[in-house]
Amino acid sequence: MYFIIRCPGCRTFMYADRYQKWKLCPACGESINCLKTPIYIEVDNHSDAETIVSQLEKYLHNSRKKDLSASELEKLRIQYAQWLRNKKD
Ligand SMILES: [Zn+2]
Repeated sequence: MYFIIRCPGCRTFMYADRYQKWKLCPACGESINCLKTPIYIEVDNHSDAETIVSQLEKYLHNSRKKDLSASELEKLRIQYAQWLRNKKD
């Protein structure tokens, strides 16, 4: 299980192992406290995490938004849950 998080300093998306307490931001070098930073979504494995990180970055870039709204986040979580279910069938 991995958490998708965002660097509070430079706003880069990344993922952290669920048991990891600290994550070093690959872009700006900030130490991120995984227990205190908001979790965007929890995913099964690191390849899903990589896919979602790049989708999130693309989405925000294309929509010129700074962050996801609560309803966009909810939609993302629902889509991921559905996608997971389809993958297992
Ligand atoms: Zn950073």
